[in-house]
Amino acid sequence: MTSAPRALIAGNWKMNGLKASGAEFKAMVEGAARVVDRADLLVCPPATLLLAFARLADSAPVSLGAQDCHAKPSGAYTGDISAEMIADAGGTAVIVGHSERRTDHAESDRMVRAKASAAVAAGLTAVICIGESEAQRDAGMTIDVVSSQLAGSVPDDAPAARLVIAYEPVWAIGTGRTPQTSEIADVHAAIRNALIARFSDAGETIRILYGGSVKPSNAAEILALPNVNGALVGGASLKAEDFLAIAAACPAAA
Ligand code: PEP
Repeated sequence: MTSAPRALIAGNWKMNGLKASGAEFKAMVEGAARVVDRADLLVCPPATLLLAFARLADSAPVSLGAQDCHAKPSGAYTGDISAEMIADAGGTAVIVGHSERRTDHAESDRMVRAKASAAVAAGLTAVICIGESEAQRDAGMTIDVVSSQLAGSVPDDAPAARLVIAYEPVWAIGTGRTPQTSEIADVHAAIRNALIARFSDAGETIRILYGGSVKPSNAAEILALPNVNGALVGGASLKAEDFLAIAAACPAAA
């Protein structure tokens, strides 16, 4: 049996952060050594800060990523950034298909899949977000919705090592509400089974993150669940102390 993948704690800063936020990021960089035995760290600031943060991270164990990319490597796409540009600025990963992009920018599974392919082609890790709305949850459709998003958003030809799946119930994002731990475990088990069906043994090695109102006070019980290989953290990733406390709550490697 393959051992569980090493945990990843990824921070999504969303549209928050100015040059002055370098001080908070520096605190994360300085504290990273304390938690490196528990988890890999990834911070996804706004794209405007990527290059400056990459310089601050230097050789510290904190990776950087972006929050979205275009599916094309270059061209007449005003306002967009490509996966190549993210790599060029020092990023090693990109979040694609976040529910705020799916809702606010009408991103379909097909678009998310194309973005994930572009990310992988540029040498980045694609953090692919999936998750049900509250109405879908109430209708008992969670597993169906998540399975369908997974099937439609994950490229077939991507190496497993370049894929991370983030299960983020839309209704839990930024609300302070989280599913029952048994519900998180059930959805992560379904995602794991689907990944194994698609990628065979390599499907065991793909990290599945939980996201939605993770904070220091609930991190330990969520991160201890089977098939939860880390977290995608929004609000609590803006403060070094909270972000590092979440990483410290990852179970010690067996
Ligand atoms: C997110 O938006 O990816 C997220 C998980 O946000 P929060 O932690 O604030 O719920």
